[in-house]
Amino acid sequence: MNLIGIDFEDWYHPELVKKFVKDEKHEPIMFKGLDKIIELLRKNDTHATFFVVGELIEKNPEIVDKILENDHEIGFHTMYHDRIDSIGYKEKFSEEIKRFAELTNKKSKGFRAPTFSLNSDSSWIIDKLVENGYLYDSSVVPAKLDLYGIPDAEHKPYRISTKSLENNSEDGKLLEFPLLVTKFLGKKIPAGGGFFLRTLPNRIIKNAIKNYEKQGIPSTFYIHSWELTPEFMPKIKLPQKENFVTYHNINKSYEKMNNLLKEFEFTTFSNYISKHI
Ligand SMILES: [Zn+2]
Repeated sequence: MNLIGIDFEDWYHPELVKKFVKDEKHEPIMFKGLDKIIELLRKNDTHATFFVVGELIEKNPEIVDKILENDHEIGFHTMYHDRIDSIGYKEKFSEEIKRFAELTNKKSKGFRAPTFSLNSDSSWIIDKLVENGYLYDSSVVPAKLDLYGIPDAEHKPYRISTKSLENNSEDGKLLEFPLLVTKFLGKKIPAGGGFFLRTLPNRIIKNAIKNYEKQGIPSTFYIHSWELTPEFMPKIKLPQKENFVTYHNINKSYEKMNNLLKEFEFTTFSNYISKHI
């Protein structure tokens, strides 16, 4: 059994886009694609965790009902998609998590940090999540990337604490589900979603899942709302690298994910925890 987290955010939220559209009009549009995502899950008999950016619920509260009515799970992806290691974010967090609890009727038990920004500068968040009744997090990528990554972190689910992000901590009260990684050309890279899902051949991703299966480890995936409904993702003018990472193969991600959902079993984080932990 594997895990699927859909990062439900709008076109202006991804870090590589955000800084270039600060002065443009920010009308959310991605909720229009929610039915299509729910239909994709339904036809594959899959339940997923939606890590939602809270401000989208303020504008379209029906997002919560649609997710819950279809037996999916709701998780927290911050209120405005700020990096949690950004200056001043710590001071805002208590207010944000409280607001999200109000918006979701206290249903959220899981967290995913925008741009996987959980690291030693932002590990204070673990205590805060536990204080607020959270059970798990899925923000660790055990590989070294430009924007994120904790290369020596465990691959299997483990308990984290503010002092121990990389290894299982006996007194850790928050479960961590690190994202799927694999070896490619001698280097450890993410294989569980986003740009890598769009770019790597599905054969490599499938082998990565099977390799984890052999070790008894669940594969944890992430995919963005805007990757599954690229018809609502405007083509913003970005510098070359940002443009590539954001838009490369964006029209293929729906079919690639569909293909994986057909072949492998995925479920929500809460479902997995209740059955396996
Ligand atoms: Zn995000």
